[in-house]
Amino acid sequence: MKIIEPSAELIDEINPEEILRKIERCGKVSRQSELGDAENFVRKIIKLGHESVLEHVSLTFKIVCDRAIMAELTRHRLASFTVESTRYVKYEELTVIAPFGRGGYCKDDPNELDDEAIRWNTWEEQILQAEDTYFILLERGATPEIARAVLPLCLATELYMTANLRELRHILKLRTAKAAHPQMRQVAGQILNILREKLPVIVEDI
Ligand SMILES: Cc1cc2nc3c(=O)[nH]c(=O)nc-3n(C[C@H](O)[C@H](O)[C@H](O)COP(=O)(O)OP(=O)(O)OC[C@H]3O[C@@H](n4cnc5c(N)ncnc54)[C@H](O)[C@@H]3O)c2cc1C
Repeated sequence: MKIIEPSAELIDEINPEEILRKIERCGKVSRQSELGDAENFVRKIIKLGHESVLEHVSLTFKIVCDRAIMAELTRHRLASFTVESTRYVKYEELTVIAPFGRGGYCKDDPNELDDEAIRWNTWEEQILQAEDTYFILLERGATPEIARAVLPLCLATELYMTANLRELRHILKLRTAKAAHPQMRQVAGQILNILREKLPVIVEDI
C-alpha cells in the first residue's frame, strides 16, 4: 500500500493577458465599445453578475483524489471529466489517500494523538486486508472489473477536469466552503491557489 496526498495541477500552458483580452473582446461585442483595461473589464462583469462572458475560456486540471471525492466532483454537470477506470486498470499495489494520521488531510487536535493512533491502526488494518483480498481474487482468476468490488473509497484516482471559468468559480465557491468535505476543500483550495497566481481577477471575490 502506498499513501499519497490529494493534488490539483493546471495542465494548460496559459497566457493570462491573452485570456483576459479574449474575455474583454467577447464581452464588449454587445456595446461595440473600444478595448481597454481588460482586467478591470473582467472585474466589472463579475461584479455585475454578467458571468456568461467567462464561459468563453476553459481550463483543464489534473486532479488526484480518492474515489469518494471523485464521485462528488463529477456531479458538476457543466464540467467535463475523464477518470481512471477501476474496470480496466489492474493495480499492482493500492495507492490510497489517508484520511488522518501520517500525511492525512484531517489534522487532529495534538492532544488527541493517542486517539489518532488508534484510528490510524484501525483504518490501515482494513485497507491492507482489502488489498490482500483484491490480489487473492485476481490470483484466483477474477478480472480487475470484478475484483474491484473490494477496493476502498480511499483509493487514489487520477482524473482530468475541464471547465469554463464561470463553472470553475461555481465549483470553487461550493467546494472551498466549510460545508465541503476536508479532502474536497484541500483539492479545491489548490485549484483556487493556482487561479490566484495565474488569473487573480477571476477569483478575487472567492
Ligand atoms: C456541501 C454539499 C453537500 C452535498 N450533499 C449532497 C447529498 O447529500 N446528496 C447528493 O445527492 N448531492 C449532494 N451534493 C451535490 C449537489 O447536490 C450537486 O449535485 C452538486 O453541487 C453539483 O451541482 P450544482 O447544482 O452545484 O451545479 P453544476 O452541476 O456544477 O452546474 C452549475 C450550475 O448550472 C446550473 N444547472 C446545471 N444543471 C441544471 C439543470 N438541470 N437545471 C437548472 N440549472 C442547472 C445551476 O445553476 C448550477 O448551479 C452536495 C454538494 C455540496 C456542495
